[in-house]
Amino acid sequence: MIQTPSSPPVGTVYIVGSGPGDLDLLTLRAARLVGEADAIVYDHLIAEGVLELARADAEQIYVGKKSSNHTVPQEQLNQLLVRLARAGKKVVRLKGGDPFIFGRGGEEIETLVESGIPFEVVPGVTAAAGCAAYAGIPLTHRDHAQAVAFATGHLKDGTINLDWPALARPKLTVVFYMGVGGIAEICRQMIAHGLPASHPAAVVQHGTTRRQRVLTADLATLPERVHAAGIASPALIIVGTVVRLQEKLTWFKPPPGSPI
Ligand code: SAH
Repeated sequence: MIQTPSSPPVGTVYIVGSGPGDLDLLTLRAARLVGEADAIVYDHLIAEGVLELARADAEQIYVGKKSSNHTVPQEQLNQLLVRLARAGKKVVRLKGGDPFIFGRGGEEIETLVESGIPFEVVPGVTAAAGCAAYAGIPLTHRDHAQAVAFATGHLKDGTINLDWPALARPKLTVVFYMGVGGIAEICRQMIAHGLPASHPAAVVQHGTTRRQRVLTADLATLPERVHAAGIASPALIIVGTVVRLQEKLTWFKPPPGSPI
C-alpha cells in the first residue's frame, strides 16, 4: 500500500486592520486574533505595541514598505501568506488602518481565493476617521460638508491621476492619503479646478499617537507651511471648510515630552 505523507489541515489567513496608531483603537477582534496567531505578517504602519499582544512563540515577519522602498514585492508577500497557511498556521496579516482602504487587502485576498486558502477580513479604524477625530475635524457637518471622499495623493512621475473636477467641490471634504510628497500638486489642482485659494486645508501627521501634529491653513499656503514645519509621512491632508471647526473642537493633547 502506498503511504502519502499527511499534510496538516490548511490554516486560515486573517487580514486584520490595526487602526491608525493608538493601540486603544484596535478592535477586540483584532486583539484576540493577534493573541492567538501562529504567524503575524506585519507592515510598517501598524499600531505601536500591538505585537506585544502576540504569543511569545508566534512567528513575526516584517514585510513593511515605505513608498519608495518596497522591501517585499507584493507577489512574494501573497505567496508567503499561502505558504504559511498551507503549513497549517493561523496567520494574521496585520495592516495599518483598515485593510480595504488603500491597504491592498483586495490584492492579497485574490491570491488566497485562487489558492483555496480560507480567509477572513477584520476592519480597522482607517487613518481618516482616526486623524479627524483626534484632530477635532469632523469629516461631515450639516453646515459644511454633506459628503466625504478618500483619495490617494500618491505622486507618480510628478503627477497625481485623479478626477479633480469631482474632488474640487465646495460642500465636499476630501481626505488625501499618501499625499505629503505631492501636496503642492494637490493644492494646485484643487485651486485650478475651482476652489478658492482661501479654501481651508489641514495636515495631520502621526494622527492618534503621541507624535500627532496638526497644521491648518488654506490651499494657497498649506504646502509652504508643511514644508517649513518639516512634516513628512505618515500624514493625511484634509481639504474642506470643516477644517475651520478645528480650533474650536480640538481636544487631544499628546502628553508633554512626547517625541516629535
Ligand atoms: N489602510 C490604511 C492606509 C494605508 S496607506 C488606513 O486605512 O488607514 C498609508 C497612508 O495612510 C499614509 O501615507 C498616510 O497618508 C495615512 N496614514 C496612516 N496612518 C496615519 C496616521 N497615524 N496619521 C496620519 N496619516 C496616516
